Amino acid sequence: MKKERRQPAGHVQPSTSTCDSCTEASCSARTRNAGESDRDFEDRRRLQERLCRIRHKIVVLSGKGGVGKSTVAVNLAVALRLNGNRVGLLDVDIHGPSIPTMMGLENRTPQGDQGQLFPLDAAGLKVMSLGFFLRHPDEAVIWRGPLKMGAIKQFLKDVDWGDLDFLIIDSPPGTGDEPLSVCQLIGRMDGAVIVTTPQRVAAVDVRKSITFCRELKVPVIGVVENMSGFVCPHCGTLTPILRSGGGHRIALDMGVPFLGSIPIDPQIAVCCDEGRPFIQYAADSPATAKLQEIIRTIDALGRA
Ligand code: ADP
Repeated sequence: MKKERRQPAGHVQPSTSTCDSCTEASCSARTRNAGESDRDFEDRRRLQERLCRIRHKIVVLSGKGGVGKSTVAVNLAVALRLNGNRVGLLDVDIHGPSIPTMMGLENRTPQGDQGQLFPLDAAGLKVMSLGFFLRHPDEAVIWRGPLKMGAIKQFLKDVDWGDLDFLIIDSPPGTGDEPLSVCQLIGRMDGAVIVTTPQRVAAVDVRKSITFCRELKVPVIGVVENMSGFVCPHCGTLTPILRSGGGHRIALDMGVPFLGSIPIDPQIAVCCDEGRPFIQYAADSPATAKLQEIIRTIDALGRA
């Protein structure tokens, strides 16, 4: 499998790399595993071919739901795009996909052709979510592990992601089947961003997410503390309505970087509900300034 030469972020270079034309001797997709069927070998090659065209794969994790993980994933992806990167956003939150709503893509269905699915375009991002395939928003997905793994594999292997600088993957809360499948299928993940809220009950779960990353050898890019205080829209005073600093303390304790904290801003919730990334539509919010600082660290990965 051919390794892409590192280019400055935003450099658009159409790739024609395929496993057949590749000369990378160390690629695991070059040789068939013992006992592997033709179909499994072909699938593995196709997956590798797609992944080779994506320079950086970043998973966004959280210990608990409702801490703003999808909000961070969406706005991180949009910010990277605004900085000139080619970005994909993959929602593997199979039981509660919120990316279609947050990206203003509800009731849209991706098209397919010859075994490929075409991601939807929003804010210049390539977006894919299981939510696009649910017949009704109230539909509950009741799947066990292997079925989830199959769906995630399809999203990585059969979606026409093209050449990307970043693929941001929004994973459901916890350390279950979905983040495990993503990390195993991708193999070499660039890193994980872990989102938490400041209270102790949420922050202690960050430890589990960090341990999960360590066991899977996924580098922790850092911890983001969301809903860290409330900025009054009238006077700009920051009130720590939830106990703050929990995320910071745990990051220090566990020896991983702390990326920063984002305050509560009612504009964020409105933007999410209306399918507008707040980083674009609430440019004057203190939360946007904080997120921009956080993103600088991640964007630097693309420019390294
Ligand atoms: P998760 O993915 O962790 O379940 P979401 O990203 O879906 O959480 O966010 C849950 C809710 O909280 C959403 O309605 C979102 O708009 C809102 N929200 C997230 N972060 C903030 C914030 N900093 N200020 C205000 N509302 C926020």
